[in-house]
Amino acid sequence: MRIYAISNFSNTARAESWVAVAADSDFPIENLPYGVFSKNGAPGRIGVAIGDAIFDAPAAAEAGLFDGVVSRAVLESHSLNLLLGAGREVWSALRTRLIELLRADTQRLDGIDRDRLLVRQSEARMAMPFHVGDYVDFYSSMEHATNLGKIFRPDSDPLLPNWRWIPIGYHGRSSTIVVSGTPVTRPNGQRKAPAENAPSFGPSKSLDIELEVGFVTGPGNRMGAGIPVGAARDHIFGLVLVNDWSARDIQAWEYQPLGPFLGKSFATSISPWVVTLDALEPYRIAGPAQDPPPLPYLQCGEAWNYDIALEVELQTARMREEGSPAEIVSRSSFRYMYWNMAQQLAHATVNGTAIRPGDLYASGTISGPDPGSYGSFIEMTWRGARPLRLKNGETRSFLEDGDAVTLRGYCDAAGKPRIGFGGVTGTIVPAQ
Ligand code: CA
Repeated sequence: MRIYAISNFSNTARAESWVAVAADSDFPIENLPYGVFSKNGAPGRIGVAIGDAIFDAPAAAEAGLFDGVVSRAVLESHSLNLLLGAGREVWSALRTRLIELLRADTQRLDGIDRDRLLVRQSEARMAMPFHVGDYVDFYSSMEHATNLGKIFRPDSDPLLPNWRWIPIGYHGRSSTIVVSGTPVTRPNGQRKAPAENAPSFGPSKSLDIELEVGFVTGPGNRMGAGIPVGAARDHIFGLVLVNDWSARDIQAWEYQPLGPFLGKSFATSISPWVVTLDALEPYRIAGPAQDPPPLPYLQCGEAWNYDIALEVELQTARMREEGSPAEIVSRSSFRYMYWNMAQQLAHATVNGTAIRPGDLYASGTISGPDPGSYGSFIEMTWRGARPLRLKNGETRSFLEDGDAVTLRGYCDAAGKPRIGFGGVTGTIVPAQ
């Protein structure tokens, strides 16, 4: 177990939990991410991850442990949407109460059977944590946008003229956003390789991932009035890992002039635990310098980047047969983002668009400066020109059926608690 100062208590308080938490756990008492779990096929219940366990929020609510903090109906819901809509004051009060309940010296649980408040993560199945209303995917990593520009438009400037002025994005498909563990069916569609004159129809031959982090919105705004950068913190609840599965051959053929469509909409996977902005606060950092200076409505005085280490793991069917572990094929960081979440939200609403609790805004693929930090296979292999050579001798340009990809994210630094996301996994199954 590790013991840390928790900013939510006081500057001097140090706490550990009565729930055992391994030193390398993503879920110490300082994290407390929210998710929805089910056991034995029962309806989903809101839970909070702590170590290898889940703190059963409705069970605790039934025992009166959140009375005066948040209404029972919010925690007895089968998704986080009511909590998302409750707003920052409630989020903050709930977090404070959860820490009080889970710290080792709590007196709030006197006379209560603590075992009834915990479920083992290994015995639970995670569900979608919230109902996703609208889904937007940005394109906010300069390194990724530059790489894709070079690959898709080799004869022109890799960054289009608007890129440094606008957090570029598109509206995606919310109905096919799925929780980690859901299989991903290889999409069919019109494919065209650069050397071919005409498209053909069939299963994508260049199925790819995109390593992303998404934010989940809280209370919405009034239609017609935007959310300025300075108000973003009241409208952003927390973050999840996002894998924006992408069929590059379908995408390359369809994306001009209106942007991504069927090359993206067949599946998007998210991690089951929503990590709150409060938990991530120790890892908030300044972003890269922005040149030219953004227009005034996008200027942001506060630090809005987060130092989240990100990894891409690949396990092929053969690795599973051989009993070998997944192989890390890329290490990136959320710190590289050029446009930050406050700017993305301000831009997405500056025209008066109304957002709602449970909208998902993904960052866009997060690539770092060197090839070991690229967030997609099309970049890692330069559209297949430089296939990855795996330790067991297999090679990959894009994903094959049976491949399982897991994205992981965590914050870790000396003297600070490890704040992790767990992972988001998807396994490719053959086209229908
Ligand atoms: Ca994307």
